[in-house]
Amino acid sequence: MAATPTFAVPSSFLGILRLESEASFHVAGIPLDIGTTNRSGSRFGPAAIRHASRMLVDGDHPHWWIDPAGLPVADIGDFAIALGDIENSLALIEAQAAEYSHLIALGGEHTISLPLLRALSGRIGEPLALVHFDAHVDTWPDNFGQTYAHGSVFFHAIEEGLINPARSVQIGIRSPVQKDVYEWTLDKGVTIITAQDVHESGPQNVAQRVTGIVGDAPAYLSFDIDCLDPAFAPGTGTPEIGGLASWQAQAILRRLDALAFSGMDVVEVAPAYDTAEITALAAATMAWEYLAMVGKQAG
Ligand code: MN
Ligand code: MN
Repeated sequence: MAATPTFAVPSSFLGILRLESEASFHVAGIPLDIGTTNRSGSRFGPAAIRHASRMLVDGDHPHWWIDPAGLPVADIGDFAIALGDIENSLALIEAQAAEYSHLIALGGEHTISLPLLRALSGRIGEPLALVHFDAHVDTWPDNFGQTYAHGSVFFHAIEEGLINPARSVQIGIRSPVQKDVYEWTLDKGVTIITAQDVHESGPQNVAQRVTGIVGDAPAYLSFDIDCLDPAFAPGTGTPEIGGLASWQAQAILRRLDALAFSGMDVVEVAPAYDTAEITALAAATMAWEYLAMVGKQAG
């Protein structure tokens, strides 16, 4: 057993206090939420996720048999943003992210993925494969007239050549959406696996499809917590019913270890709408799942 009870562990991610830049994995909070189209408040997401993550420090991951807190991972605190200014915030986030080779970002809303993808694809020198869990396609060309906001992240990522649509897959999709936006996404070559597809075909089948689509390309995982059903993640800005159970997301993630992941984010946790920390704990657990998997891969 850990020497410190979980509730007394410091409120960093998994209680990690190391700040050294030579760590292999870096956890950063990104408290940007001004690109939210509905309920705001995910600026408080990083703190809530870190706080909830302390439940995960009293043993090994029971599938990978590795303790993510024991990996060479540093919690580097929160990135600076430009208060009230989305475009300057994106520029700041990109510049800070460019310093790190393998970043695990705690949102904030989904707009943060755009500068993270700009930084990572720039660093790697080619478009990334994308594994995107979400209730929403996030490929709207704009959000109520706003060019950069959380519903347009992957529209811009595709238009800027940051991701390779043929190696990109969205999982859990189910929100209302204009048919032309949905079809634009498919026409670009993105694979959409709806929430209903997940329920009816099962996580094993979904993971197999994702693995086939992504192949050996350098990959990025973007986990919008609203891919989960509001029963499992009520604390979010744009909830949609009919979503994944948290176990389904875990069962898919644990089967993606053949992929060459280079970074991940978990976004859209808005603690003010949460109940008993279940959304924050779900988000912390997805980051922990990811760390355990890539830590195991790193050997
Ligand atoms: Mn999203
Ligand atoms: Mn969403």
